[in-house]
Amino acid sequence: MSLPQTILFATSNAGKLNEARQILQPLGFTVEGLEQLGANVPEPVEDQPTFEGNALLKARHYARLSGRPALADDSGLCVDALGGAPGVLSARYAGVDGDRPARDAANNQRLLAELAGVPDKKRTAHFVCVMVLADERMTWAQARGTVAGRIAHAPRGQSGFGYDPLFIVETLGKTAAELAPEQKNAVSHRGNAVQRLVAALAKLAPDA
Ligand code: IMP
Repeated sequence: MSLPQTILFATSNAGKLNEARQILQPLGFTVEGLEQLGANVPEPVEDQPTFEGNALLKARHYARLSGRPALADDSGLCVDALGGAPGVLSARYAGVDGDRPARDAANNQRLLAELAGVPDKKRTAHFVCVMVLADERMTWAQARGTVAGRIAHAPRGQSGFGYDPLFIVETLGKTAAELAPEQKNAVSHRGNAVQRLVAALAKLAPDA
């Protein structure tokens, strides 16, 4: 069975959508965004215990609504000293109140509080990103990317989002918020997952 040429990318982030188009159009795919589904589209409840489970749940949800294969991602931060937390709960570690910057700040504050007194060598962590392309019947492609690092004692840097100001990238010795976007993409869990997904999709491409 061959993969349909038009894919829905389950994002309302215009930057992410453009990036996906730039990568997937040369392979022969047409990439649509969530705006194709109109206003007031119901969001799925991300209640799975794994990144894979949540990405698949999102992809299937939007595939059902659109009638097309859908690409979805799930990501988060896993801290060894916290048994892998916040993990799949990364976005809502300190609750769901406020806008995104307020939630990010509260999440970072909670992370620092949980790690109070934990020495540098035990502050190891990694980011995970899982991308899944699926329709209601099957998973067409799946990829996982990670990046290793450790949690700083105080935020550093102005770029990025989420836990970036606290995440010191192991290979660079800088927090992700101290990196330019292209430097972060070159090493990040998301960049890594995209590369692997593209390799898998290239084998399924209409032009292959
Ligand atoms: P998602 O939107 O369900 O994938 O939630 C991802 C959450 O994990 C975000 O809200 C952030 O808190 C965190 N996260 C994922 N990727 C990154 C990253 O690249 N930098 C900083 N935080 C991230």
